[in-house]
Amino acid sequence: MINLTLTEALKKLNSGEISAVELTRAYLDRIEKYGADLNCYITTTPERALADAAASDARRAAGDAKFLDGAPIAMKDLFATRGIRTTAASRMLENFVPEYESTVSQKFIDAGTVLLGKANLDEFAMGTFSKTSFFGAPVNPWQMENRLTAGGSSGGSTSAVAGGLAIAATGTDTGGSIRFPAAITGMVGMKPTYGLCSRWGCVAFASSLDTPGPIARTVDDAALMLSAMAGHDPKDSTSSKHGFTCTTPLEPVLGDGKKLRVGIIKEFSDVKISDDMKTLFEKRISDLKSMGAEIVEVSIPNILDALAAYYIIAPAEASSNLARYDGMRYGLRVEGRDIYDTFKKTRAAGFGDEVKRRMIIGTAVLSSQSYDVYFMQAARVRRMISDSFNKAFTECDLIICPSSAGTAMPLDSGLSPLEFYALDLFTVAMNLAGVPACSVPCGLAQNGLPLGIQVVGNRFDDMRVLQLAKHIETAADIDNRPTTIMGK
Ligand code: GLN
Repeated sequence: MINLTLTEALKKLNSGEISAVELTRAYLDRIEKYGADLNCYITTTPERALADAAASDARRAAGDAKFLDGAPIAMKDLFATRGIRTTAASRMLENFVPEYESTVSQKFIDAGTVLLGKANLDEFAMGTFSKTSFFGAPVNPWQMENRLTAGGSSGGSTSAVAGGLAIAATGTDTGGSIRFPAAITGMVGMKPTYGLCSRWGCVAFASSLDTPGPIARTVDDAALMLSAMAGHDPKDSTSSKHGFTCTTPLEPVLGDGKKLRVGIIKEFSDVKISDDMKTLFEKRISDLKSMGAEIVEVSIPNILDALAAYYIIAPAEASSNLARYDGMRYGLRVEGRDIYDTFKKTRAAGFGDEVKRRMIIGTAVLSSQSYDVYFMQAARVRRMISDSFNKAFTECDLIICPSSAGTAMPLDSGLSPLEFYALDLFTVAMNLAGVPACSVPCGLAQNGLPLGIQVVGNRFDDMRVLQLAKHIETAADIDNRPTTIMGK
C-alpha cells in the first residue's frame, strides 16, 4: 500500500478498494519499523492518526469525502499544531505545545488528511543538511548504509516521503529548503510563489522569504497538496488573493504543436556542477526540444550575488524574529540573577550554534555602522535580481536550471558554515524574487543517487511550473523509491 502515490491512493480510497484506516496502519507500521533509523519525525501522533483515519472513513461512507480525505501526511515541525508539540527542532521550543493551529495545517485538517506526525528539520529551518536539529539529523533513505543527508531544512519531510513513512509532506522554503532536500532524495518539491500559502502559525525564520510548500512523490501529488494548502489568509498580511486549485492529471503544456519558450540562465552555465548533473540537464533539455519547446538563453546578471544578499537579508530578519525567545512568554526559561541574566542564560542554552551565528550576523548588518553598506546594499541586489526575472519572463515562459550541483553527501562531510551556505547557490535567487520554483527528479547519477532540475516561473504562474515539471518527470522516468528500504 505504501507504494501508492497520493493520486493513486485517493482513487482507491474513493472506490472503496482500501480504507483510510488500512492506509494509515500501513504507514504507522513503516514508522514503527524505520522511524528510529531515519529519524525523520520529531514527534509521531499514531493515536491522532488513527482517529483522523476513522473519521475520514466515516465521512466517505456518508458520501461526504473531502479533497484529500484519508491521506496520511507529515507536517514539518515548524507549523504550529494545536495540542501537539511544535519544536522548530530547537531546544528553545522542546516542550512547546501551541494552543492554536497554523493556517496551513488547518487547511490540511479541512481537506480531510491524516496527521502522522511532525517532521524533523534544521533548527528554526536554518541549514542545508538538517544537521542543526536539536533532535539529531534525519537520514536519507537512499543508500542508508552510507548515512547520507536527506537535505535541509525540510530533511525530515523528504526522508519520510522518500522512505515511505508518509504519502506526502509539508515543507518550507526560505532559501531552498524544499527544493534541495527534494532533489537529493528523488522527490518533487514545490516552492510556490511567495504569499500563495499562508505563513500564519508557521515559526518565522525570514518573513519576506519564508514560503510553505509541498513535498511529494510525483508532480501530480505535489499539485494536489498545493491546492489544499494555498489560499488567501487575512491573518497573514503578505498573503495573496491569488488562489491555486487544480485537478489531476495536470494538462500538458508541450506536444500537439503547443509553443513554449524555456529559458536557460546564462550566468549559471559557468558554475561548476557534477558531470552527472551536466549530462542529465542536457538530456532533459533535448527532450523538451523534441517535444517542441524553444530553448532560449536568458540573463539574470546578478544571480551569482544572490547568495551574498540572502546571507545578509535572511539573518537580519531572523535576528529580529528570534528576539521573541526570551524565556518570558513561552519556551525554555533558565533562571538568572536578574531579568537580563535570565535572557542571556535562556538564549545561550536554548539556541544552537548556527542559530546564534545567524543572529550575530543579523544584528551586525542591521547596526547603524553597517546598515547602509550591508543591509541596504543587499536589498538593492535583491531588487535587481527581481527586476531581471521580470525581464527574463518577457523573453521566455519558464526557466529551468539545476537544483543542486551534485547528489546527496554524507552527513559527516565536515563542511564549514561557508561551504554549507555555498550549496544554496541554485535556490536562493528564487526566494529573493518571490517566484515559484519546483524541483523535479531528472534522473539518477552514476552512483545511483537521484538528481533534480528546477522549473521556475513568473509570480503566480505556479500551475505552468508544475505542468512543465511533469514533462520532465515523465521524460526522466526514474523509479524514485529507494531500493534499500522499499523492500524491492
Ligand atoms: N540552506 C538555507 C539556509 O540555511 C535555506 C534554508 C531554508 O530555506 N529554510 O538558510
